[in-house]
Amino acid sequence: MSLATTASLLERDGHILRVIDCPAVGLDRARLGALAKIFQPDFAFWTTATPTLNDDLNLAGFIKKNVPDAVTGVFGTHVTALPEVALANPSIDAVVRREPEQTIREICLHGPGDWEGIDGLSFRDWETGGPRHNRDRGLLRPEDIPSPAWRSLDISPYRLPLKGRPFLIVAPIRGCPYICNFCTAPLYYGKKLRKRPVTMVVDEIEENMGMFKVRDFFIWADTFTADKGYVKAFSREIVTRGLKISWTCNSRVDTVDREMLSLMKEAGLWMISFGLESGNNEVLEQTGKKITVEQSKGAVSIAHELGIKTSGHFVLGLPGETERSMNDTLKLALDLPLDIAQFYTAAPFPGTRLYDLALKKGWLQTDSTLAQDRAAMDLPGLPGQRVDAFRRYAYRRFYERPKAAWNIISMVEPRAVGHLLRTLGAFLGWARD
Ligand code: SF4
Repeated sequence: MSLATTASLLERDGHILRVIDCPAVGLDRARLGALAKIFQPDFAFWTTATPTLNDDLNLAGFIKKNVPDAVTGVFGTHVTALPEVALANPSIDAVVRREPEQTIREICLHGPGDWEGIDGLSFRDWETGGPRHNRDRGLLRPEDIPSPAWRSLDISPYRLPLKGRPFLIVAPIRGCPYICNFCTAPLYYGKKLRKRPVTMVVDEIEENMGMFKVRDFFIWADTFTADKGYVKAFSREIVTRGLKISWTCNSRVDTVDREMLSLMKEAGLWMISFGLESGNNEVLEQTGKKITVEQSKGAVSIAHELGIKTSGHFVLGLPGETERSMNDTLKLALDLPLDIAQFYTAAPFPGTRLYDLALKKGWLQTDSTLAQDRAAMDLPGLPGQRVDAFRRYAYRRFYERPKAAWNIISMVEPRAVGHLLRTLGAFLGWARD
């Protein structure tokens, strides 16, 4: 998404671009290297994530080997919080902190070398070799947030998991005003809700429908439903224009009500994902998320009653977690009329308050990769291994019920069956391990 929105700005400046989603199109390093040799870019930028950080950073040496004069730059939440980590790799020239579009644009306008005035940039001082951190960049105004240039990349691999139909992401809002201690979202897009004008967003949907024949969308925002007035205006605009689309979105349980969800459904919402996090109010309290189990029950029930599919996201191993609270979480997942449940392990990503807390308390395992599918913390009385085992158990308990299996089957469309069966085989092997 960030590469596609950045591409949009760079195209306006007349740059010639190649945007490649390597994992999606199955491009391995050898083929990427061959492409880079042919294309000979002046600049190469890519996104990084905490779980894949080492590989992501090592890509720089590979790019330089194939195109020695290319300027290399990375972005993402981890390197925003810890730019020095990226700059310790001698093949990385630039670290773009927070939302990347305008900073990358200015790097490409300035060329290599003259980077002192570029806000939001960390780079290696040409003389001393030490890291330099320019001041933070102000975030883009909502009306200046570009639409992604999907035409610049191969979007054919983007298929809805259970449907197999092509889909695209549309991002109407950036920023999140909440302060959940485990979340990196505000680090990237800031704490202020920046709402793109509704007409602009719905125009983008219509353009995608016309240009790519796509009817399915993921309306992506950290918390799309944070502003009810906006969501209602967005839904009404889709209804008024008569757009026959279907879409999904993320939400907080304390930001929805029956009237809003009905309108969203009328506008094409077929599934909503709630960050439920925990089934224990004391654990929820410690996250700073400011939601309760009762609110989770209310929101999921209303959506279910309206015929909207629901997906619940839970985190195991948060501060204050015990065997009892993990069982509370599993019980909540089993009691709610959820169609899908995802159980993650709490990951203290750099830049979060959970990271600071884990460091202070000495919870962090020394040899662990920070990811949401393997516990990286040993909490008092609850070793990470136990959290991992409980996570597998929770998945088994949730999905091995006939009702849950039927819910999934009822959502699957014929073209997605092959993919689902392959995923299911791998999943069952892992969950029963
Ligand atoms: S978990 Fe959701 S509500 Fe909390 S900070 Fe992250 S995006 Fe915002």
